[in-house]
Amino acid sequence: MVAAPVNIIVGSHVWVEHPELAWVDGEVFKISAEEVHVHTTNGQTVFPKDTEAPPGGVDDMTKLSYLHEPGVLHNLAARYELNEIYTYTGNILIAINPFQRLPHLYDTHMMEQYKGAQFGELSPHVFAIADVAYRAMINEGKSNSILVSGESGAGKTETTKMLMRYLAYLGGRSGVEGRTVEQQVLESNPVLEAFGNAKTVRNNNSSRFGKFVELQFDKNGRISGAAVRTYLLERSRVCQISDPERNYHCFYLLCAAPPEVREKFKLGDPKSFHYLNQSNCYALDGVDDTEEYLATRRAMDIVGISEEEQDAIFRVVAAILHLGNIEFAKGEEADSSVIKDEKSRFHLNTTAELLKCDAKSLEDALINRVMVTPEEVITRTLDPVAAVGSRDALAKTVYSRLFDWLVDKINSSIGQDPNSRTIIGVLDIYGFESFKLNSFEQFCINFTNEKLQQHFNQHVFKMEQEEYTKEEINWSYIEFVDNQDVLDLIEKKPGGIIALLDEACMFPKSTHETFAQKLYQTFKSNKRFIKPKLSRTSFTISHYAGEVTYLADLFLDKNKDYVVAEHQVLLTASKCPFVSGLFPPLPEESSKSSKFSSIGSRFKGVLEAIRISCAGYPTRRTFYEFLHRFGVLAPDVLDGNYDDKVACEKILDKMGLKGYQIGKTKVFLRAGQMAELDARRAEV
Ligand code: ATP
Ligand code: MG
Repeated sequence: MVAAPVNIIVGSHVWVEHPELAWVDGEVFKISAEEVHVHTTNGQTVFPKDTEAPPGGVDDMTKLSYLHEPGVLHNLAARYELNEIYTYTGNILIAINPFQRLPHLYDTHMMEQYKGAQFGELSPHVFAIADVAYRAMINEGKSNSILVSGESGAGKTETTKMLMRYLAYLGGRSGVEGRTVEQQVLESNPVLEAFGNAKTVRNNNSSRFGKFVELQFDKNGRISGAAVRTYLLERSRVCQISDPERNYHCFYLLCAAPPEVREKFKLGDPKSFHYLNQSNCYALDGVDDTEEYLATRRAMDIVGISEEEQDAIFRVVAAILHLGNIEFAKGEEADSSVIKDEKSRFHLNTTAELLKCDAKSLEDALINRVMVTPEEVITRTLDPVAAVGSRDALAKTVYSRLFDWLVDKINSSIGQDPNSRTIIGVLDIYGFESFKLNSFEQFCINFTNEKLQQHFNQHVFKMEQEEYTKEEINWSYIEFVDNQDVLDLIEKKPGGIIALLDEACMFPKSTHETFAQKLYQTFKSNKRFIKPKLSRTSFTISHYAGEVTYLADLFLDKNKDYVVAEHQVLLTASKCPFVSGLFPPLPEESSKSSKFSSIGSRFKGVLEAIRISCAGYPTRRTFYEFLHRFGVLAPDVLDGNYDDKVACEKILDKMGLKGYQIGKTKVFLRAGQMAELDARRAEV
């Protein structure tokens, strides 16, 4: 005797339990008073006693009776069908990329709706998450951070922008003209995207840096300042791209700038530049680079970058393009090189002109290296391959200094509020990456993700604990996925991979082989570290998200991140204050160590969160709900006039379940126990 669940109608897609396959999906084709008839996709007709996931899904995963991957995915898909891109898992929001503009979802009317609304009262929405953070700040003086995670192309940056727009709406000064703090914060996005985003295989507007935006609020809840921190811009992209990816947007939009700008910088077709023509992709669908150029300049105006500064910024961008076109030929002496031809000389001269530095000094800086020993100063020539390396190193250095300058400028022009006591932070980071060939960039990205994952684990774990404590249940049984061992492997001081890498970089004799050997030796019994059988220079880390094999070959060079002394001298001497400002003279002892210490330590991943719940008590039901559903298993208990809590205990006892817990208002079941009880119910 089972009534059809109220939410099921003919045509509903449902999951039904299957004795061999565990779960199969099917469609309801008939509902009678006694039974639900389901045609399964494997061609059977079944009469399940209970079905899962009502049409349109549930707006909170914790409402699912069974927490397992197909159920979760099915629920998300069912909602997505109806353009419901948001779903909660408790107080975590899951967003599915709609890949189409949904303007009504984010308009002012929507913002008004969510303002001050009780969490969970309206449909799941990114505004609701921001609203909770804002209310916590106003009502309890609490600072909060919102972490946005997901793989590349998932929609993190778009989501971050929505969060910022909503917070600016709540904490902004309506009706105030001119450059308000909140306008500047919002307009910093297009500026940073022009210089830090690029088309990749996964995403036409992929962020190639991590970003943490801290919005500062005054005591009235108004935005009073902001700070933008960025992490690890992908430098290699400046000189190396592969089809069908693109370099950073700014290069293409500058090549599409109005004619007078292009003339001034001697620019033409992007196809004529080596840094761009390594890929066949130049234009992006639906993007007009000329319009983007103008939009970027408008955004720069609002952010507070002056006309002269903007001019200098784009002059440097143009210089990098010309620099990349300088080619080298073998010189007369062994292992030396010369500028290849007239064309290359033109680009050399143009680069020098744009950077306002001396052309001969630029040439020397590219093809020679000065070695300082205690006894003498020796000038060593570079062969053409090394000269190309020197050229590309210069391009990367200049570009990353330019990017850092933009971030600093945005921060100083928005301004920090020293009196602000509460902040709301929003973190938008690149997702975990694993390619066929992985190098230092992936190592850094995945390390960051590992850090953020740990933060997330701890956060979710703490939330769970709080719920258990509130219900006064004993939570010491709960284990959760811990990635501390991976983090130790990577960042432990001393003795972790990064420490060993820094050490290797300080010994002039180290090579990638000696570094790899050192790793093999040190971690031979570490279960997170694997030495691939036939390799002498690669190593595998068993990350929380899977195994990734890294090629150690360029780790030393890439970690050094130092500026070649000749390049430094050249650009410090630039007659353009903007350019020389990018290269302030260095204090003598400034040896560069890796940047790792600055990487943020916040983050997450969604299914992982669900898995964490599974490790504890994924299913919880109020006493009333529990009795309603399972009272049928023990009619005598129901008749026994017990209070709800005792009645629940008696039923669970009678069913012989172990490991569950009874709280003050809810029953907490272990993974699988709900299904077991349901099965018993079906037998009744
Ligand atoms: P990456 O890690 O590569 O930076 P990401 O997670 O930041 O990726 P986004 O750039 O935010 O991904 O999203 C990729 C594209 O998906 C956007 O350019 C946009 O076209 C679309 N998109 C994402 N979210 C939304 C949304 N809420 N509404 C409409 N379109 C969206
Ligand atoms: Mg992004």
